[in-house]
Amino acid sequence: MSFVFEPPSRPGVAVDGGGVFPVRRVFCIGRNYADHVREMGGDPKSSAPVFFTKPADAVVGEGETIPYAQATTNLHFEGELVVALGGGGKDLASEDAAAALIYGYAAGCDLTRRDHQARAKEAGGPWDTAKAFDHSAPIGAIVKADEIDLSSARLKSSVNDETRQDVMLDQMIWPVPEIIIALSEQFELKPGDLVFTGTPEGVGPLAPGDRIEIAIGDRLGLNFKIG
Ligand code: MN
Repeated sequence: MSFVFEPPSRPGVAVDGGGVFPVRRVFCIGRNYADHVREMGGDPKSSAPVFFTKPADAVVGEGETIPYAQATTNLHFEGELVVALGGGGKDLASEDAAAALIYGYAAGCDLTRRDHQARAKEAGGPWDTAKAFDHSAPIGAIVKADEIDLSSARLKSSVNDETRQDVMLDQMIWPVPEIIIALSEQFELKPGDLVFTGTPEGVGPLAPGDRIEIAIGDRLGLNFKIG
C-alpha cells in the first residue's frame, strides 16, 4: 500500500536549544480563569472543564505574519500557557503522574472568531469554526520543563505594545496537572500533544497590521503579526 499522493508534512514547534517538537493533537481548555469567565458572561464555579480541539496544522511558529482570518469580522487574541506532552496515558491517577508527561512549556495564542463563538453558544452548536480554523494556533518556542519554574510567573499579552492581559498563572481555576488528568479521562494522551490552558481577562479584537506579543515568566515568548 502506498499513499495516492504525498501526505502533508507533520506540524512542529521549535524547541529552545534545538530540535523540533512534533505535534500530534492540540487540546484546549475554555473558561480557566475566573475573571475571563465573568467577562464572557459566565459563572466561574458553574461547571467542569470545557475542552475543545484545534487541528495540528493550525499551529504557526514564532515571528510569522498570520492572515486576518476569513469569514469573520471579530478575530480575537487569547494569550495562553501551552503545555507540550512528551509522554502519554489515559485515566491518570495522580498529579504526579500528570506532571511526569510534561515535556515543556510555551507561550501561545488561541485565536478565536468571537462572532462564530457567540452564535455557537446561542445555538448550542459546535465551536469548530470559532476555534479550529487555519493559522489559529500560533506558538512560541518550547522550553523544556526542567529548565523553567513557572510557580510565580505572570502571563502578559500586548497588542502594538499596549498591555492587554497581565495575570499570575496561579489564578487558573484548574491548574496544569488537573487539566491533564481531566483530559486523560476523555482521551488517551500521547507524546506530541499540546494543551492550551485557557486565557485570563483582557481578550479583544485584532485588526490587520496589529503586532501581538505574549510573554510568560522570563523564558516563554511569542510574537506575531496580523497581515
Ligand atoms: Mn482560549
